[in-house]
Amino acid sequence: DRGGPRDLAAIRAGLAEAASVARRLSGDMPARFSAAVRALTGHEELATCLEAALVADPPLLVRDGGFIAPGHDPGLDEARQLRDEGRGVIARMQAQYVAETGIQSLKIRHNNVLGYFIETTATHAERMLAAPFNEVFIHRQTTANQLRFTTLALSGMETKILNAGNLALEIERRLYEGLKARVLDAAPRISEAARALAEIDLTAAFADLARGEGWTEPRIDDSRAFEVEGGRHPVVERALTRAGDAFIANDCNLTPGDTPAIWLLTGPNMAGKSTFLRQNALIALLAQAGSFVPARKAHVGIVSQLFSRVGAADDLARGRSTFMVEMVETAAILNQADDRAFVILDEIGRGTATYDGLSIAWATLEHLHEVNRTRALFATHYHEMTALAAKLKGVENATVAVKDWEGDVIFLHEVRKGAADRSYGVQVARLAGLPPAVVERARVVLEALEKGEREGGTRRQALIDDLPLFSAAPAAVPKPARGPSKLEERLAALHPDEMTPLQALSALYDLKSILGG
Ligand code: ATP
Repeated sequence: DRGGPRDLAAIRAGLAEAASVARRLSGDMPARFSAAVRALTGHEELATCLEAALVADPPLLVRDGGFIAPGHDPGLDEARQLRDEGRGVIARMQAQYVAETGIQSLKIRHNNVLGYFIETTATHAERMLAAPFNEVFIHRQTTANQLRFTTLALSGMETKILNAGNLALEIERRLYEGLKARVLDAAPRISEAARALAEIDLTAAFADLARGEGWTEPRIDDSRAFEVEGGRHPVVERALTRAGDAFIANDCNLTPGDTPAIWLLTGPNMAGKSTFLRQNALIALLAQAGSFVPARKAHVGIVSQLFSRVGAADDLARGRSTFMVEMVETAAILNQADDRAFVILDEIGRGTATYDGLSIAWATLEHLHEVNRTRALFATHYHEMTALAAKLKGVENATVAVKDWEGDVIFLHEVRKGAADRSYGVQVARLAGLPPAVVERARVVLEALEKGEREGGTRRQALIDDLPLFSAAPAAVPKPARGPSKLEERLAALHPDEMTPLQALSALYDLKSILGG
């Protein structure tokens, strides 16, 4: 009983749309679809009844009244007429009292305490409280500035209006109950129509995407295959297309038996690792939802659970730091994923010390391989882990290709077999706009660390002893070597406080001419 007139109107609109959709979908339809279309028809009786009974834009609540259309119920029309006429009579009464008393400012007003009353300003008190007016006007209240009266005729009219208004509301309430009962009777059929509309909506949306975005029908079966040719990330692709760039499609094959079921993805920052992970998870999800998928070809063996561990987030309010959240999520995956699950792990172990992180990532990958035996994509910047591919039969290295061009990275976004040798983090940091001094210093530190490692000193030794980390003075921020430019010299020579507006304008032109503009 929480509904109201506006809900009835929504059902009226829904049924009308359902009929119109059904008309447009008449003709040769797949069996599933024609059942849905059938569910949309046969609601004419209720639709017509609601159409006739309700006004175009009904109020939210029954107690507000005014939702039954005029002409629908003669009794209601009569009560409403009486109520409205009464209001007209009151307007006429006011004109009559103004004429009789000669007080132009006399008004008939209404409030919830007094009901209808006649009001004059206090300046007319003497006149109103004396004969002959005191015989007609019965004094009810004096406020700071006003006097209030009633008359027998006014209170008689008020009762009539009140009764007619109550009667109209009462009739509307009764009619509402009737309409509500009819809707409740039809509830199962209305629910079917709603379900059918949802199904048509979903199917049409999938079809529209499949056509518009060039998606293909995936093969789905009971195997544990996961083979995608030319897969794309639907959202990233859209954004790139809008900006005039092309999305690079990539293959992925995690079918156990044919090939290792776990890919260990290394590659530079910004290369497209996360995109690749998510696009494959999305393809699995879309395929099982009954949609075509953004790929040239796809074969998906039923996925029982889809797990993802991506990004960094904390949950401080519940007492969990970033690293804790990461571990809680990883624990959920390792404890639950079975051999039909699909797992994407985007960098784990990053919120802690390098060796702790590497060890956790290492052990997690082994567990996924040995115990969970899932199909998984595992992205990491711990290049040490690529050694695992040689040890574990079901793990294969993959990398996202980049080109190194005169010290700059060019992102190719192509996923290939093999391992990355470095992350290009410093170059990407420069692209992001880190101050040049910081980038330069990072390069020096990186080189020292790498050198320490190459020269066979233990890593520990390299980290502690490598002087650049602790003793080398930070390279001075490179200062521009040149002297002040011509423009700067001229600017410095200007004294704005001593210039007239005209001189200032001419100085501006002068400065601009130095730029050649
Ligand atoms: P990081 O290691 O820094 O987290 P990442 O390797 O995970 O980086 P993504 O976040 O997947 O990189 O991708 C970075 C950007 O590269 C994306 O925002 C997208 O614009 C672009 N990109 C990714 N994949 C492709 C692709 N296949 N084709 C074209 N552009 C792509």
